[in-house]
Amino acid sequence: MYLPDFDYYAPESLTEATGLLMQLGTSARVLAGGTDILVKMKSGLLAPSALVSLKNLHELRRIRWDADRGLAIGALATHNEICNSAVVQEHFLSLSEAAHKLANNQIRNRGTIGGNLVNAIPSADLPPILIALGAYVTLAGPNSSRTVPVESFFTGVSRCALEPEREILTEVVIPPQKTTGSTYIKFGLRRSGALAVVGVAAAVTMDGNVVRDARICLGAVYKVPTRAIQAEQVLIGKTWTNDLLEQAGRTAVGCCLPISDIRGSAEYRRDLVRIFTRRALKRAITQGHV
Ligand SMILES: Cc1cc2nc3c(=O)[nH]c(=O)nc-3n(C[C@H](O)[C@H](O)[C@H](O)COP(=O)(O)OP(=O)(O)OC[C@H]3O[C@@H](n4cnc5c(N)ncnc54)[C@H](O)[C@@H]3O)c2cc1C
Repeated sequence: MYLPDFDYYAPESLTEATGLLMQLGTSARVLAGGTDILVKMKSGLLAPSALVSLKNLHELRRIRWDADRGLAIGALATHNEICNSAVVQEHFLSLSEAAHKLANNQIRNRGTIGGNLVNAIPSADLPPILIALGAYVTLAGPNSSRTVPVESFFTGVSRCALEPEREILTEVVIPPQKTTGSTYIKFGLRRSGALAVVGVAAAVTMDGNVVRDARICLGAVYKVPTRAIQAEQVLIGKTWTNDLLEQAGRTAVGCCLPISDIRGSAEYRRDLVRIFTRRALKRAITQGHV
């Protein structure tokens, strides 16, 4: 498996990078960590005429906390950088843990949060927790930029709101919040290096034992990561009990449309959704760290 021929560019600024994308047209692609795109090119699934590497855009690597804006993570931050960042661990430990559950050390060292989102595979590990935490992304074009909630970023399998011929995902922002606890749990067929058969993220805001707010996001059970809104409504305003969490888990099953594939049947996935939703909620409620 050899890489096909392509032109290679390594712009020094974001303006240069978006300008290049415009100039090169639809057959050019952005290169971040390369863990996905290079594999696709080697196996003949993709043959872009040019790759525009972001490696010199060092500002896209930064992870910063701002009390007004929240946690801003540059698109080029790798999974291991997110996992090991003291700032991420202090403010959103559940995101650090989700990054740790992704793939294996080699992929976590190269793969980036921006690539994970633009890749837009239904089983990706970061979208569910980012959606549960109400994150949004910034997409920069040649003359302007726009923000899109992660929840509405995905438009289908391997499809997202980014316009690849002119836009670069520059940043992911998680706003400051009152959330009491959040978590992401994943079921893969191996402990390391396996895509999620099912992933469930939950974020809850508690008032004593009463659930004031809840956000649940399911991964790998629909064409895009999806909120289990009816399951959230089962919880809001109620005192939590194990029975209530089981009821929310059962309701979450109705919010997904899993497929059967080599990793598991649709029926198995539905069962996992019920159990993992219950477990994720219990962990978010009882452990209490965001
Ligand atoms: C063995 C293996 C195991 C894996 N396991 C997992 C797993 O467990 N969980 C999981 O979620 N994923 C997994 N992946 C998928 C993948 O590695 C990750 O999604 C990774 O985060 C992709 O990031 P990257 O920087 O390498 O993207 P790249 O390969 O560089 O790019 C991926 C796509 O996104 C575009 N892109 C990248 N960055 C930007 C940007 N900033 N702006 C605009 N477009 C951009 C590229 O043009 C390309 O189309 C696995 C991959 C492999 C090979």
